[in-house]
Amino acid sequence: MKFLRDSYSLTRFLKNCGSAGSVEEGKNAHAHIIKVGFQQHFFLQNNILHMYIKCRKMEFARQMFDKMSQRDVVTWTSLITGYTHNGHHEEALQHFEQMQSEGVLPNKFTFASVLKACAGLTDLERGKEIQDQIRKMEIEVDVAVENALIDLHAKCGNIEDARQIYDKMFNPDKFSWNAMIAGYFGNGRLEEAKKLFYEIPEKDVVSWNAMIAGYAQNGMNEKALQFVFPMRSAGIRMDQYSLCITIGVCSAMGDLGKGKQVHGHVFRTGFDLNGVVGNALVNMYSKCRSVDAARLVFDRMTNFRFGLPTRMAVGFFRGEASKTHSGESIANTVSWNAMISGYAQDDQGEEAVKLFRRMLREGVKVDLFPYASTLKACASIAILEQGKQVHPHIIKSGNEMAAFVGSSLVDMYAKCGSIDDARKAFDKQSKNDVVLWTTIITGYAQHGLGHQAIELFQQMLQAGIKPNAISFLGILFACSHCGLIDEGHHYFDSMSQENGLIPEIEHYVCMVDLLGRSGRLDEAEEFIKKMPVKPNGAIWGALLGACRMHGNIEMGRRAAECLLDFRSQDTGLYILLSNLYSTAGRWADAAKVRKMMEYRNLKKKPGYSWIEVRDKVHLFTVGDRSHPQTEEIYTFLEKLSMEMKQVGYVPDKNFVLHDVEEEQKEFLLGHHSEKLAIGFGLISTPSGSTLRITKNLRVCGDCHIAIKFISKLVCREIVLRDNRRFHHFKDGKCSCGDYW
Ligand code: ZN
Ligand code: ZN
Repeated sequence: MKFLRDSYSLTRFLKNCGSAGSVEEGKNAHAHIIKVGFQQHFFLQNNILHMYIKCRKMEFARQMFDKMSQRDVVTWTSLITGYTHNGHHEEALQHFEQMQSEGVLPNKFTFASVLKACAGLTDLERGKEIQDQIRKMEIEVDVAVENALIDLHAKCGNIEDARQIYDKMFNPDKFSWNAMIAGYFGNGRLEEAKKLFYEIPEKDVVSWNAMIAGYAQNGMNEKALQFVFPMRSAGIRMDQYSLCITIGVCSAMGDLGKGKQVHGHVFRTGFDLNGVVGNALVNMYSKCRSVDAARLVFDRMTNFRFGLPTRMAVGFFRGEASKTHSGESIANTVSWNAMISGYAQDDQGEEAVKLFRRMLREGVKVDLFPYASTLKACASIAILEQGKQVHPHIIKSGNEMAAFVGSSLVDMYAKCGSIDDARKAFDKQSKNDVVLWTTIITGYAQHGLGHQAIELFQQMLQAGIKPNAISFLGILFACSHCGLIDEGHHYFDSMSQENGLIPEIEHYVCMVDLLGRSGRLDEAEEFIKKMPVKPNGAIWGALLGACRMHGNIEMGRRAAECLLDFRSQDTGLYILLSNLYSTAGRWADAAKVRKMMEYRNLKKKPGYSWIEVRDKVHLFTVGDRSHPQTEEIYTFLEKLSMEMKQVGYVPDKNFVLHDVEEEQKEFLLGHHSEKLAIGFGLISTPSGSTLRITKNLRVCGDCHIAIKFISKLVCREIVLRDNRRFHHFKDGKCSCGDYW
């Protein structure tokens, strides 16, 4: 930097640092300026300030600003614009006021910036004050100010005023009409947006993006995609933003085929190594349940290292976010998190934990999201041991107290079957977050600990936390699964009467479930008739389940007929109906229901259960013989079955779905997936330790009886999580009280 002795070359150097975003070099230049004694040079001071702002280092900019002995309109405007660009709209407006109180008159650039700040805050009142001020000062308004005004009015829902400004403009440019189009979409005026789009003389990439994003924002994904092809035929290159919204649209539609087409286009246009686009692709594939494809994109991103010097790399890979230093991967924290949550959504908890560990090993910066996603992944498949191993990392990172990490921890422990650990994690938190409370309440509810759930719900109210609709779902679930009818009614009523919440269909389902389970079938049917909302399949499903539990075939048939009108895709409901008929020995009707399932192309979801032993998940299906220790498991179960029968266990053949021979029924009952998982658990864990099993479907009634016997015979606590709730088996009893 020795040769930079004149203010001209120093200015140019500062400008370069600013546009390349190299704050380190900029700082060196700043130090050099002080060393050569130019620091009092006002023109250079403004340039240093501007450099820091361009590098988005507002705290350095502010320090510089405070040190300056003289500040003109350019100085103030730079700082205000910097704040607006970085989304610190309040600060921008505060400095605008301060500037005027120090007697500096704003110019059109200042006005454009503060109007943007008002738009960012959707503060129409302040915006209008500034608009008045502009009129009074008789400043020559240029197109940038007018565009800012259009944007302000459109964002604040004042679309007619925005249009008036637009119509009066002498020379609207592309920013004006793009702001107008975005404004129409933002206000749901799709037809006017389209009309304007076809009227504008030069459609650039921003105009096309506005159309795609506008329709997507209004939930019209098909329509959004209809603009992609003509955009390309019009010779407009899709940019990073076009690609990201298009990928986002495919993702929202869950349309893998279209998503792949866009991916092909990404490849052909050289955006495949753009970090932001890559992250969008990972999200899209995960959302479309194509996690392996997501992983391929992710691996390509993590494996690619920049070997080029920074500046070349920046030029080579278009787009801000791929601005990366040599040797760094283009995958960032967002990419890692996208991949981990992809695994979490796909119930691949082990892969999620593996990736999380690799993330720590490779020193990738971890923010809050990966912790939450990894915990969610552990929770989804109930792998307690691995979930527990994540906890110390969270403590070490100092994020344990962050509300949403705390909720994830509580959720993980609860869903992994350890409600005590969940409570411990809950107790450590500063309890001012409704999500945290709701998580622990729902946890207790699912573990069948209704009274604790109610107690916590009351504590939450006392702490002044307002319950939300999900909190009420949790508490109603608790009442329903513990047979607490009066309490259930009380909470259901208090939802609207005391909390101003309108019960949604899920809340009604809980109530039907509550009445039905406790045998008040007539009351439940009456409740459905009086509901202000139209009953859906889940309502009839709940009633049907209750009818099966209490053996009311007539009402069951009525519920089933209503249910089948919904052409429900939930196979569980058909199975329930088929079971109802089977239980009554009406095999022909049961067969008809199964035919209907076939006809509607519904496959019975295969049941499976799994258990985590020493960091590994072992999965079993019915009659499974693929496990390496199969022989041992079956021999053990046979021996156990004999002992169970000696103490009074009789297999309940009603729970077999098909009209098979009696003998075969018993065989199938003996080898349900949950029993196999328990058998394996018993022979491979130390005696006396708790077994934790997860099943993807509801536990069958015979297994439920059998497990009670097993818990007593082998003196073990067995925690079984099915797709509805938890069963804690201990000493021949289950926490659900046979009421699930
Ligand atoms: Zn079973
Ligand atoms: Zn139970």
